[in-house]
Amino acid sequence: MDVSPILDPLNDAQRAAVTAPLAPVLVLAGAGSGKTRVLTHRIAWLIQAERASPHSILAVTFTNKAAGEMRARIERLLGVPAASLWIGTFHGLAHRLLRLHWREARLAQSFQIMDSEDQQRFIKKLVRTSELDETRWVPREVQWFINTNKDAARRPQQLKDGNDPARRQLIALYRSYEEACARAGLVDFAELLLRAFELWRDNPELLAHYRRRLRHVLADEFQDTNAIQYAWLKLLAGADGAPFVVGDDDQAIYAFRGACAENLQQFRRDYGQALLFRLEQNYRSTATILEAANGLIAHNAGRLGKRLWTQGARGAPLRLYAAYNERDEAEFVTHRIREHLAHGGLRREVAILYRSNAQSRVFEETFLSARVPYRVYGGLRFFERAEIKDALAYLRLIANRRDDAAFERVVNLPPRGVGAKSLEALRERARSAGGTLWEAAAAPGDDLAPKAAAAIGGFMALIERVAQATGALPLHEQVDAVLKSSGLIEHFRREKVERGEARVENLEELVSAARGFAPEDAELPPLEAFLAHAALEAGEGQADAWEDCVQMMTLHSAKGLEFPLVFLCGLEEGLFPHQRSSGDLESLEEERRLCYVGMTRAMRDLYLTYAEQRRLHGVDSYGQASRFLKEIPPELVEEVRPRVQVSRPLAAGRFRAEEPAPPGVRLGARVRHGKFGEGVILNVEGNGAQARVQVSFERQGTKWLMVQYANLEPLT
Ligand code: ATP
Ligand code: MG
Repeated sequence: MDVSPILDPLNDAQRAAVTAPLAPVLVLAGAGSGKTRVLTHRIAWLIQAERASPHSILAVTFTNKAAGEMRARIERLLGVPAASLWIGTFHGLAHRLLRLHWREARLAQSFQIMDSEDQQRFIKKLVRTSELDETRWVPREVQWFINTNKDAARRPQQLKDGNDPARRQLIALYRSYEEACARAGLVDFAELLLRAFELWRDNPELLAHYRRRLRHVLADEFQDTNAIQYAWLKLLAGADGAPFVVGDDDQAIYAFRGACAENLQQFRRDYGQALLFRLEQNYRSTATILEAANGLIAHNAGRLGKRLWTQGARGAPLRLYAAYNERDEAEFVTHRIREHLAHGGLRREVAILYRSNAQSRVFEETFLSARVPYRVYGGLRFFERAEIKDALAYLRLIANRRDDAAFERVVNLPPRGVGAKSLEALRERARSAGGTLWEAAAAPGDDLAPKAAAAIGGFMALIERVAQATGALPLHEQVDAVLKSSGLIEHFRREKVERGEARVENLEELVSAARGFAPEDAELPPLEAFLAHAALEAGEGQADAWEDCVQMMTLHSAKGLEFPLVFLCGLEEGLFPHQRSSGDLESLEEERRLCYVGMTRAMRDLYLTYAEQRRLHGVDSYGQASRFLKEIPPELVEEVRPRVQVSRPLAAGRFRAEEPAPPGVRLGARVRHGKFGEGVILNVEGNGAQARVQVSFERQGTKWLMVQYANLEPLT
């Protein structure tokens, strides 16, 4: 038995953790110190040296992509297929378990997953049918109430109203929400976790079976587990089990979703005999990047405390660019990416990280016009696009007629004459009969206009017909047939809806997605496996994952990843740290950890950018540089001047006193051009009749114009 491929690529501390005896283990270590590597090698070690069966391993990772990489890595280390390992996200694993044991879990066999948007819509409907005021019972807040309780394993019957009428009403909504979900065969994300937990808790024999079978429980990114996730792991591992968890308190960034970094401490209390390993050598970043990140995170108070070091090169200083506005920021980044490519770099080595999803748009536009292929990771989620959800709603109904959310979404799409009034009548029927919309629509009644009744009948017949006709086809043909017979493709092509062409392309892409879909779980009918995949993996794998393109993502989804060249953008007060967080210390510290996560993604070069003026969500704001910039040791940062050397004071420009600049023509000023629309002046060159300005237009990109002829109208 040769274990050298498993142990050779490790340092001493890592090796000690990988070969630790079968006891509870906690690896507590900083970014880039090899935690994920240790976890992966531990799995290989268990199989190879401890003779563990691959069937006995359950490993939780942060994304499906990470799970895929881990699996591939283990296959390389062991030279055997690793398909039988249970590796996945908490949600993915819980889903797999519930599919296998839907009966014990008291779920419908063909239950469907609702994503957060579906859930909100569903709650909104519930608030309405309960005849409550939506402005007082805001669906988003009701959703939050339900999900936080689920995350803490609390069902409505366990909640006390404390004589507070508002709370009583929320609890009642939670209860009727549960009933409605059960009727419709729907399961939201929080429910997946809670239901999987209850499944084991309430079925001791089943739990005993899984404890015997999944003897090795491992978890990456443990600092971001929430109460129910940890409770689930603990239930499986049992009090005398040997879970192996790795994490970094400095990278806890999901408290806002109920994650609880104290689970790291709690783990040590729950498993008193746990072996603790620390890894301190960083293999990812240059010494400069590492020092800068260490300098930043040192401003957080509540830390377990650790110091990372590297043997690697010092590397280049961090580069800071103060852009005039968000367009200039994007242009600067594009320019630097071009340089990187010109020096033989690859696009996929580059990541653009930002705090909010909406920031991606300007980069996308700039990249499109500069022809830089890019991929938005977790942002413009393929499976979350409206037209894709429309198509999925058809598929969901075909899989499960009781899916009310799907029914509502497409009963009148393409429009077939089912108006709001008819829908309301159906809802009323469903409510009084305690059934689903489908059942209500099938029942006789005279509360519908004959035309609407006929349209609904036609819709139902269509679903039945397609289900019949396509049930035996391969998945992608099934999807194709549904798209065509539903009339969706025609609808988007013919109707002059916004982005119609792009929508048709997306729908066509869905057929390719179905063709390329390899279900993990052969027990499930392909259509249901595909729908579950769509719900669980929204945001991942939208393009060929490793096609050579620039990677764009929010800081939250950058966790665990690494890139040679990183741009951390939008470092402005209010944007990052986010407005909501600047007021209280705890959320501010979480924002700082998020910044730390972002910085430590960089291997070789790290750029930090901010804009003096930014238009986001249609509103202009004048930002101050983020406080995080001031917390990075200044000697590690070099400020990048604008591309053309001009003095920066906004009012100055380059005009000599005797030749005054035309009013309003100065750096940073907003102007309007007759043909190109509104823009901002980025550069001013030359004097008098020769004066030229470079303007970044909102729609037309950047252009150089002669001031004399351009007739720019100052706007500010
Ligand atoms: P994060 O906290 O960001 O999740 P991590 O602690 O999980 O980071 P890894 O992603 O496992 O760290 O490792 C960081 C990088 O260092 C990877 O490129 C990995 O291959 C490399 N690495 C880890 N350990 C070693 C080692 N002993 N020798 C060489 N390279 C290593
Ligand atoms: Mg990791």
